[in-house]
Amino acid sequence: MNAKREHDVDVLVLGGGMAGLCAAVAALERGADVLVLEKASRVGGSMFLSNGIIWTFVRQEDVRAHVPDGDPALQDLLVATLGESLDWLASRGVKLEPHREYLGYGHGRAASPPQMTAALIERIGALGGRVMPATALLTLLTRDGAVEGALAFDRDGPVQVRARSVVLATGGFQGNPELLARYVTPHASSVYLRANPCSTGDGFLAALEAGAAATPWLDTFYGHAMTAPPARFNAFQFQDMSHKYAPMAVALNLHGLRFADEAAGTGEEWLNWRIAREPRATAAYVFDAATAERAYDAGPLAKVVLERARQAGGPVVQADSLEALAKGMQAWGLPAQQVIRTLRSYNAAVTAGEGHLLHPARRANAFPVLRPPFSAALVRSAITFTCGGLRADLDMRVLRRATSVSTLPLVTADAAELQIGAIPNLYAAGSDVGGFSNESYMGGLAQALVTGRAAGTAAAQSA
Ligand SMILES: Cc1cc2nc3c(=O)[nH]c(=O)nc-3n(C[C@H](O)[C@H](O)[C@H](O)COP(=O)(O)OP(=O)(O)OC[C@H]3O[C@@H](n4cnc5c(N)ncnc54)[C@H](O)[C@@H]3O)c2cc1C
Repeated sequence: MNAKREHDVDVLVLGGGMAGLCAAVAALERGADVLVLEKASRVGGSMFLSNGIIWTFVRQEDVRAHVPDGDPALQDLLVATLGESLDWLASRGVKLEPHREYLGYGHGRAASPPQMTAALIERIGALGGRVMPATALLTLLTRDGAVEGALAFDRDGPVQVRARSVVLATGGFQGNPELLARYVTPHASSVYLRANPCSTGDGFLAALEAGAAATPWLDTFYGHAMTAPPARFNAFQFQDMSHKYAPMAVALNLHGLRFADEAAGTGEEWLNWRIAREPRATAAYVFDAATAERAYDAGPLAKVVLERARQAGGPVVQADSLEALAKGMQAWGLPAQQVIRTLRSYNAAVTAGEGHLLHPARRANAFPVLRPPFSAALVRSAITFTCGGLRADLDMRVLRRATSVSTLPLVTADAAELQIGAIPNLYAAGSDVGGFSNESYMGGLAQALVTGRAAGTAAAQSA
């Protein structure tokens, strides 16, 4: 190989999004020589497209209640260190809005994604680090089970990097339909990608090939349902097209049936996850004039989102009777008679205070669909990041499958057998690591910030 296309560094970071940039800064500040490879021609990943709200839960007890089944040690690390990580970010030139509470159980601070991206890149440059865009990880270089670098590709061919430590920060596997079909849903080809287009599981697959252990809950992901085709919109309109009001609405699948408790989980992300398993990963959100105006924590009023969907050319129906609404929804493939039956029985149950007796139950926000005009929007499940991923310890060292024991209930290994081994020199951060969110959500940027810092620090120390 041409010498110019070979590099030798202390720490190689793969992925230049939130986690990768934070890992690079943390490693540089420990005195390491750092190279970041980024697959896209633009650095910033999904962070750049995000709302920039860096938040997680305030209390560990609330995490246990709202996001059970994660890795408690990793979740507690996030809760315990978000505050100091935000201070760290601010002192590196990222402008953060004042501290705020979110959703009654969360807290954090908001950043401007373009400013945050620019500040982190500037810091990397000032410390002597290098970022190579349009260069993608293909596979890890290993010897005797230890990682020694990576083979990547840019448009001119292979680039080989020898490294004392490697940090995987490629942002999850949501952009890979084959992995989505394997782990998440048989309707993977219908799901919208609500994220950067480059996170196709490259870090996850390369690590598995090198013997890494994966977490449970590989079927879970975070996202919000967005306006269905034929709507046209771009990546900077993902927020506008997200129907976050749905925990106050009624969700029907293409058979005209309810399929989930719309108000379960931490927010609409839970319902969105369930829609992914319904035919064509599609649902209709139905609500009345009262819900159209109902305020909630997570986003704009339902009527505002509906109008945006209409303007984007999305499927929207409004009518003065449930019969006329159902007739309009027939064009989307929902059988009108069944839609009317479902809405009537839902209305009867919630009006009688018996939402919990419905199948599926409706336990919270049990608002009836009674006051005209009635509205319906067709939405598709949309995936922002996968929640399952690589198993890592608190230093973000990637665990080796062959030296780990299963975490599945009920049979647990004897304490003496719990000699968990990591793959030497391999670290992971951000959405490449599993064990934080699963069916419910504890923040994506916060996870990337905290794990990126931890991985970069440990990778530099070991290098
Ligand atoms: C519309 C939207 C709104 C959001 N709002 C919020 C919010 O307000 N709060 C919040 O907490 N979270 C939010 N998120 C989620 C948040 O952006 C992610 O959780 C976070 O960016 C994850 O960080 P990451 O570094 O793991 O992934 P990313 O930031 O996506 O970075 C991964 C990077 O790896 C690169 N990459 C992929 N494969 C390779 C390869 N083979 N080689 C080299 N590089 C590779 C990608 O191109 C990308 O740049 C939002 C996301 C979106 C899309």
